[in-house]
Amino acid sequence: SKSHTVVVIGGGAAGIATAASLLKRRPGLDIAIVEPADTHAYQPGWTMVGGGIFEPEVTRRPMASVMPRGVEWIRAAAKSFQPDDNQVTLEDGSTLRYEVLVVAPGIRLAWEKISGLEDTLGKNGVTSNYRYDLAPYTWELVQSITSGRAIFTQPPMPIKCAGAPQKAMYLSCDHWRREGMLDRIDVEFCNAGGVLFGVPDYVPALMSYVEKYDIGLRLGHNLVSVDGPAQQAVFKTEDGEVTRDFDMLHVVPPQVAPQFLADSPLAAESGFTDVDQHTLRHNRYDNVFGLGDGGSMPNAKTAAAARKQAPVVAVNVLQQLAGRGPKAGYDGYGSCPLTVERGKIVLAEFAYGGKLAPSFPTWLIDGTKAQRLSWMLKADALPWIYWNGMLKGREWLAGPGNMIAQ
Ligand code: FAD
Repeated sequence: SKSHTVVVIGGGAAGIATAASLLKRRPGLDIAIVEPADTHAYQPGWTMVGGGIFEPEVTRRPMASVMPRGVEWIRAAAKSFQPDDNQVTLEDGSTLRYEVLVVAPGIRLAWEKISGLEDTLGKNGVTSNYRYDLAPYTWELVQSITSGRAIFTQPPMPIKCAGAPQKAMYLSCDHWRREGMLDRIDVEFCNAGGVLFGVPDYVPALMSYVEKYDIGLRLGHNLVSVDGPAQQAVFKTEDGEVTRDFDMLHVVPPQVAPQFLADSPLAAESGFTDVDQHTLRHNRYDNVFGLGDGGSMPNAKTAAAARKQAPVVAVNVLQQLAGRGPKAGYDGYGSCPLTVERGKIVLAEFAYGGKLAPSFPTWLIDGTKAQRLSWMLKADALPWIYWNGMLKGREWLAGPGNMIAQ
């Protein structure tokens, strides 16, 4: 079997950023990235596609173009892990050996957990910004609906970008309000969870938009099945099942650890890579690290989190290769720019324990309020920083990792 100093599983936001950060620190390091997909997506852009602000094409690039120079791209899916032998088995049965393994395969969208959903996605008014090919349909529906009921759903945690279900809703409402149609459209937010947003400091600003758009807030409503042709959605609630008619349904699917990871010796009980939440090193295998949406850490699963995690993993991987323990630590930073209307954003930024972690002084950007400067950040600066800073390992642009000494 082939062997590399570092093997990275997944060429998404976290995997590419980590490899790039490693190579900036140690040019020439022997790294292989195992990644089956031929395109790389900037998923935070899909909210903007669903809101008619971005063209879909700007959110995707060929995978080859984001692979850091010098890494070997192994175009295959990993199938299983044998950490006691420092080995990964790929889909085709071949094996790869490593000195250090970085696990970053993301989270799996479990569309199949909602019965009837897969048959009707992309038609009958059923859409989701969680898929590249469906986000444009969200915008199509928003433009074509003139009355009736629009339902936006949120599944139980964990999900990537916990604000995204609401972002789709606010941008839709904003369009209907501008077109003078909002009065004729009955908007509902059906959230399996019990709160509007997990960090209380941001709730007042969001609630003011729920009121402004006259949104029916239905907490504890978990979508379990969809009948597309009949345009009916069934929710499980404390008081039994509730059926709602809809004209438009924006679904965010339940999300789980990738199956091959959950089935492996690297998994925590949750199915995600079982890592220390600060060092991002595996709790049982010293030469294995995990980050991104596929990690067991309790941070908000966002690309912003991966941006802060990647340098921490890079530093600790090099420590490991030098025979030393981890010296960098991640503070749980995650960020969720909530698009409450075209041109304004509530910029949620927080670390472990819901502790606010603003990147800017309050006089410049107050994240707890809807602000114009935050919109420019989301629409212009962040995508650019993602492609040119984070994925290139340029920390002067993407910001350093949150290096709490261990
Ligand atoms: P991903 O980027 O999903 O990459 C995982 C990679 O692993 C994929 O390329 C996949 O092909 C690969 N893979 C999977 N299985 C295997 C396997 N068996 N072997 C090898 N490779 C494998 N984040 C923000 O910061 N801000 C936002 O505003 C924001 N908005 C979002 C809106 C939407 C609609 C969505 C869907 C996401 C949003 N996110 C946002 C979240 C962000 O996109 C993710 O948190 C981020 O992409 C996580 O990076 P990752 O590398 O862990 O996973």
